[in-house]
Amino acid sequence: MNVFLTKKLEQVLPKIKAILDEHIYPLEKQYLTLPFSKVASKLKEVREIVQQQNLWNLHLSKNHGGLGFDLVEFGQISELLGTSPYGHYCFNCNAPDIGNQELLLENASDYIKETFLKPLIKGESRSCFAMTEPDFAGSNPVNMGTTAMKEGDSYVINGRKWFTTAADGATFTIVMANTNPTAENKYQKASMIIVPMETEGLEIIRNISIMGEENDSCFSHSEIQFTNCKVPIKNLVGNENEGFKLAQQRLGPGRIHHCMRWIGICERAFDLMCKRAVSRQISDTEKLGHKQTVQNWIAESRAEINAARFMVLHTAKKIDEVGAKEARIEISTIKFYVANVLMRVLDKAIQIHGALGITDDIILSFWYRHERGARIYDGPDEVHKSALARQILKGYGLDVVKRG
Ligand SMILES: Cc1cc2nc3c(=O)[nH]c(=O)nc-3n(C[C@H](O)[C@H](O)[C@H](O)COP(=O)(O)OP(=O)(O)OC[C@H]3O[C@@H](n4cnc5c(N)ncnc54)[C@H](O)[C@@H]3O)c2cc1C
Repeated sequence: MNVFLTKKLEQVLPKIKAILDEHIYPLEKQYLTLPFSKVASKLKEVREIVQQQNLWNLHLSKNHGGLGFDLVEFGQISELLGTSPYGHYCFNCNAPDIGNQELLLENASDYIKETFLKPLIKGESRSCFAMTEPDFAGSNPVNMGTTAMKEGDSYVINGRKWFTTAADGATFTIVMANTNPTAENKYQKASMIIVPMETEGLEIIRNISIMGEENDSCFSHSEIQFTNCKVPIKNLVGNENEGFKLAQQRLGPGRIHHCMRWIGICERAFDLMCKRAVSRQISDTEKLGHKQTVQNWIAESRAEINAARFMVLHTAKKIDEVGAKEARIEISTIKFYVANVLMRVLDKAIQIHGALGITDDIILSFWYRHERGARIYDGPDEVHKSALARQILKGYGLDVVKRG
């Protein structure tokens, strides 16, 4: 029994599943072997179907054109969409657009909402978020080299970013840059500023090749150079020098979305694992599923996926009730725990398929490559484990040394 299921969800989940079954899963094989740009027109058709069925922007409140799901409910939608690499994109709630939409809805001026947010919500544009830099440790992003200095009624941005997901083909990026680099409080150095991608002085140096693949479009991770890149001051998101406050706000719900998407991947991998266990004959009398090792993999995976889902939805409930700041330890816990469940389940699912598991004939190898980053982005495992352990040990009287 799913204690987190609501009546509203019971009505919507089957409709989403029908679209996945009819329009998205059947196209996957083709998508997995072609660059995104080659399949964009097919995906556009699916996005139109989603809009026609009023399933567009399910993460948004009713005021903003969504169905008003809370984080616990949307988490379960995210799980279902996560069962295909294109689920979130087809429903207009893929990262980083979803995080940027949430950020701008809460913090942007009317000008920014009209110019940048509106087209994003309609699905007419894409966006990206540029914080991490090649020359500074991204796991402690208060140390950053990019600056945005005021000159008249503009900010002039200089610096280099990398791993800006989905930059290739995006309309704008939200850049994190130091507007007060000498501030005593390191959390009050940076601001978030919108930069349209065609602005002079912004150059995509390359789409970084990852695990042997150079991805394009919304699967790209770009390195971007800003050289005297000038944007109007009105492109500032929220208040000046409050970039880190906004970044924390953006990441809380974002980690729920990611974790539930990973659980969706786990469920798909688990399904493939079980199907292989009952179909692959290894001798006259036995199938793979008769072997105790395989049974162990299936039992362990089932237990870990269930535990992960329960932890994430519990965290989502706490965020819904008291906000992301109060739930930050739970958020750290799920971030590293679920990322590792994902790795273990995918690895077992590949192993049971033997050589077939590492081919692109099935989807597992795609996820094995693409999701290794889950243990790194939005804070590496070690940073989140440290946050959790420090909080526990504080309760036992350990002095807490703040991060430098
Ligand atoms: C697929 C993917 C997508 C991404 N998308 C974006 C994006 O859209 N926008 C963006 O701005 N960034 C993005 N990033 C960057 C990501 O946020 C950073 O990679 C991450 O914050 C880690 O920073 P780093 O790579 O500089 O690693 P470092 O900070 O150099 O850390 C390296 C390693 O050191 C260890 N370590 C670091 N700190 C500690 C600590 N306190 N205790 C113990 N060990 C520690 C960890 O093992 C860590 O993996 C993305 C990354 C990936 C992989």
